[in-house]
Amino acid sequence: MSKLSPSDKAYVPFVSVDNMMKLIHSIGIEQMLTGLADYIEEDFKRWELFDKTPRVASHSAEGVIELMPTSDGEVYGFKYVNGHPMNTREGLQTVTAFGLLADVASGYPVLLSEMTILTALRTAATSALVARYLAPKSAHTMAMIGNGAQSEFQSLAMRAIVGITTVRLFDIDRAATQKTAKNLAGLGLDVVECTSAEAAIEGAQIITTCTADKQYATILTDNMIGAGVHINAIGGDCPGKTELAPAILKRADIFVEFPPQTRIEGEIQQMPEDHPVTELWQVMTGAATGRTSATQITLFDSVGFATEDFSALRYVRDKIQYTEFFQDLDMLADPDDPRDLFGMVRRAAPQ
Ligand code: NAD
Repeated sequence: MSKLSPSDKAYVPFVSVDNMMKLIHSIGIEQMLTGLADYIEEDFKRWELFDKTPRVASHSAEGVIELMPTSDGEVYGFKYVNGHPMNTREGLQTVTAFGLLADVASGYPVLLSEMTILTALRTAATSALVARYLAPKSAHTMAMIGNGAQSEFQSLAMRAIVGITTVRLFDIDRAATQKTAKNLAGLGLDVVECTSAEAAIEGAQIITTCTADKQYATILTDNMIGAGVHINAIGGDCPGKTELAPAILKRADIFVEFPPQTRIEGEIQQMPEDHPVTELWQVMTGAATGRTSATQITLFDSVGFATEDFSALRYVRDKIQYTEFFQDLDMLADPDDPRDLFGMVRRAAPQ
């Protein structure tokens, strides 16, 4: 990205929720999931370039508010995101987000975007990208446990990127399962509504857990996990918020985004600090192996990392070029003389 010239009026393109939905429909949701996965993979492959830090979390009894910054040296990005499992009872989202990209050379923002929908897309794209490396090659069925806001995105990404044909749904709230089944109707997946987690995992090669509950939950017990499955554990992403019985973690080969963050937030917070994990970027660059046998249990201990949001924002920035799916935001003061900020304010006084 080149430095802005002083004569440029510094508007910042802003992608609203409405425009994000228009962008998705203009591209096609599965195409967008595939495109996002490509950008996310590209950035995992240049992992060592990035500034990396565990996200900055502010915890409360109800949930968490987090900032997720990173930079590749040319572009800087961050996401603001919350996680409030009780919100849905009040008619609010569990997760809402927005994010920003900036030009490292000038420090000026170059994109501001809604990221509630984009987070669902990028999380699903990441899950499916990782499953493409780790799930059994012949995987055709996924159990989807937790049928909230993320669930359709997760299902469609696994169809588009991994090629699953069947999704088996379970949620403790039957209405959530019915909602997901209805939303997925006609989108190319066989959808089976199940009445227990045990029923949902029958015949599944991929098991996704995507529940929201601020506790050490046990969505999957050890006896439920047979040889050879791939577990995509999305919902445990905060201290004190996990989904898997520790015994599963002892049997599985565990793959993570950024260990310093996952050890705080992921399923592995239940294990000793030196419990072995493999970093995904190493699998993607070929420096480490992924699945090595048909009987191995692979586990993606997903918490969501800043580079995935950076990749998603990069994708959106590229895709909105020459479209109408953004508004120019006047959020940067730009006096003709950079040192005359006060003069600019004074000249704007009502006559
Ligand atoms: P949501 O509140 O919309 O849905 C969660 C669903 O889980 C609800 O339908 C609820 O009934 C169900 N549930 C709760 N306990 C359950 C149980 N014991 N068994 C089965 N179902 C159960 O939330 P969401 O936006 O879909 O997010 C789901 C989880 O994923 C959250 O915990 C969120 O923090 C996490 N998340 C992780 C990432 C990541 O990158 N890893 C990204 C986004 C969201």
